[in-house]
Amino acid sequence: MPRSHMSTARRRRHIVALIAILFIAVASTFAVIVFRSIDTILNTANQIDDARAVDAARGAVDALRSQLSGTIHDNATWDGAYKQLNSITRRYWILENWALTASDNPLYDTAVVIDVRGKVIVAYKDGNELGVDPAAYFGPDLNTLIGQAYNVRRQKGPVPVQFIQTKGGIAVVGAATIRPRLSATRVEEGNLYVLIFARHLTPKVVNHLARAFRIDGMTLNSTRDQNMLNVPLSDVWGRDVAYLSWPSKRPGSQSFLAVRTQLAIGFAILMLFLAQIVIVGFAIIRKLREDEAASRHKALHDPLTGLANRAGFTEFIQEAVSDPNGSIIQLHLLDLDGFKAVNDTWGHGTGDNLLVAVAQRLRTTLSEPAFIARLGGDEFAIVTVAPQGAREREAVPDIIQRAVSTPFEINGRFIQIGGSVGVSVAQDASAQTGELMRTADIALYQAKDFGRGMTVFYDQALGSVLDEQSLLEEQLRQTLCNEGIDVRYQPLVDARSHSLRGVEVLARWCSPTLGPVGPDSFIPIAEKTGLIDMLGLQVLEKATAAAAMWPAISVCLNVSPLQLKDQYFVNRVAATLDRAGLSPKRLTLEITEGVLITEPDQAHRAIAALKALGVKVALDDFGIGYASIGALRRLGFDRLKIDKSLTAELDKDPKAAGVFQATVALANSLEIPVTAEGIETEAQAVIAKLSGCDLLQGYLFGKPVTGDEITAQYFGSPPIYSSGQP
Ligand code: C2E
Ligand code: CA
Ligand code: CA
Repeated sequence: MPRSHMSTARRRRHIVALIAILFIAVASTFAVIVFRSIDTILNTANQIDDARAVDAARGAVDALRSQLSGTIHDNATWDGAYKQLNSITRRYWILENWALTASDNPLYDTAVVIDVRGKVIVAYKDGNELGVDPAAYFGPDLNTLIGQAYNVRRQKGPVPVQFIQTKGGIAVVGAATIRPRLSATRVEEGNLYVLIFARHLTPKVVNHLARAFRIDGMTLNSTRDQNMLNVPLSDVWGRDVAYLSWPSKRPGSQSFLAVRTQLAIGFAILMLFLAQIVIVGFAIIRKLREDEAASRHKALHDPLTGLANRAGFTEFIQEAVSDPNGSIIQLHLLDLDGFKAVNDTWGHGTGDNLLVAVAQRLRTTLSEPAFIARLGGDEFAIVTVAPQGAREREAVPDIIQRAVSTPFEINGRFIQIGGSVGVSVAQDASAQTGELMRTADIALYQAKDFGRGMTVFYDQALGSVLDEQSLLEEQLRQTLCNEGIDVRYQPLVDARSHSLRGVEVLARWCSPTLGPVGPDSFIPIAEKTGLIDMLGLQVLEKATAAAAMWPAISVCLNVSPLQLKDQYFVNRVAATLDRAGLSPKRLTLEITEGVLITEPDQAHRAIAALKALGVKVALDDFGIGYASIGALRRLGFDRLKIDKSLTAELDKDPKAAGVFQATVALANSLEIPVTAEGIETEAQAVIAKLSGCDLLQGYLFGKPVTGDEITAQYFGSPPIYSSGQP
């Protein structure tokens, strides 16, 4: 798969992951901030309310004290009271005005009057006689209060009021000297009575206070309750004697409780939202990963067969080769035989189906773990990786051969193909992918060369043969580029007069390293490498140029079947003849029957076109193939050349002579003239003549020679054959 594509997908994935993480981080931070803020708001609200409640409670306590302080002041600073205390009805007056009224007085519940020596005049609580000595009832703090009362008067301050633990509970207590309001009245400072009022903090009083100051759940306690809000009640020395305590209302927390459900829902939604983001993020990442995997799969696989493609194959083999465990890697390159014919005959649809069937067959028959790839067209690769000495290495090629040669049923018809297999084995991990591929390729090349259904294992010798072949190929290419192909001309003589009637043009090549190489060797190389068109034209060019210098003898030229495939071949021949100024009638092209079987239509078209041009066409090497003379007639051949292998038997085997004679007779009966080639003896020449051949060719009349030699031999002097010449 392309690297750039891979890295783009990975980069995209990273970005999405980053965004998701960022998003989650931001959302979480946001959530934390929101919750911290809510918490702070709640606490602040609680604190504010607590402070308000404490202030209110302090206010209540102050109110309690100032109320009692004011009440004492109002009652003690009273002209009437002052006068009455110094009268004999004072006790009665005190009871009437202060003691009995205390029973249902909301301002005080206890009233005590004492004289300057501390003698109790009246001590009443809740409208009844106190019954105990006020000093015992109020404790030692009372004296301090009384002392302050005398003092305060002199300083003209408010009546001092403090909290005291009395025998009847916690009470707010105050004392003041009883004196006239009017300053005109003379005051006997040394003989003043003291009025003491106390108000006990009964539950009723505390409740009343709580209600008045809107403090719920307020109680009176002797100790400070840590879980409650407290306001101390202090005595004359500033010590806390009791506490008014009440629970914090915590309105923040209360309101939080009220919105708790909504908040929880909101939070849940937020969490769901975050979870959704995470899920979606991961889904996106997974999708990207899947996409990446899919596009990677696509890049490494052949869409038609589902097998690995060349890229997938390369990746696999590179990994296999670099495996350090020293396994044996066996690479099989398979090329289908006859696939092209299936494609041409039944169409590409069937061809494709056949490829799919082959892939399927390979998959099912190669049961052992084998990596199968389609490298393109009808070429497959099968790789097996096995530990050293694990199994017979011939087994896999056999399986492959059997798999492809068993007929396939495609679209209701049975199709028989085959395969050529080239095998290369890497024994160690040091093997190079390229080397493995190259050697398997050479083996396949060789297998195909041997024919259908062959398997070839690569070995060193094969390598050197093919190395030599590729060297020759290269040299031949060079020679052709330099127009360095040479030609020789072999005489064709009249069977009766032995006079020169024409020449056959034969290509010659001298390799710079190997010396002269026969056409039987280099023509196949030229055909294999596609150089044959170039070679054919060069030979034609040279031959027509030479022939134009000679009188009206015919020029016979060998043409490879492959040249007939070139759609411009006939045009090129016409153009060359034109350039040389040679009449088409003087040219005969010799073709072998192979082309009639492999490419009948093309051969037919080419022959018709050549004949239309005026060029003659001869069938070469007749007798070694299968063509019937009737078929040749239909195709319009102008001449038949009987192969030299048949000629060679003429003077040795009477039976062969009989076949020869019958063949020539049949051809002649269809008005096809016959040339006998390879005549080496007088006897052969005679029999060929008597059989009906009109032209003879062979070493007896002349070996292939240069154009100059032909000119010198035949046209320097009268062109007449004299026996004894080479
Ligand atoms: P061919 O067409 O059958 O050519 C005749 C071959 O027989 C020539 O071999 C020739 O030298 C050889 N020959 C001729 N007379 C005798 C004889 O009396 N005895 C024996 N033993 N051999 C004889 P050459 O030149 O080696 O050519 C071999 C083949 O190469 C030719 O067979 C032809 O098929 C092919 N060839 C040669 N030149 C060309 C060319 O320019 N183009 C193509 N396509 N093929 C060519
Ligand atoms: Ca020939
Ligand atoms: Ca021949």
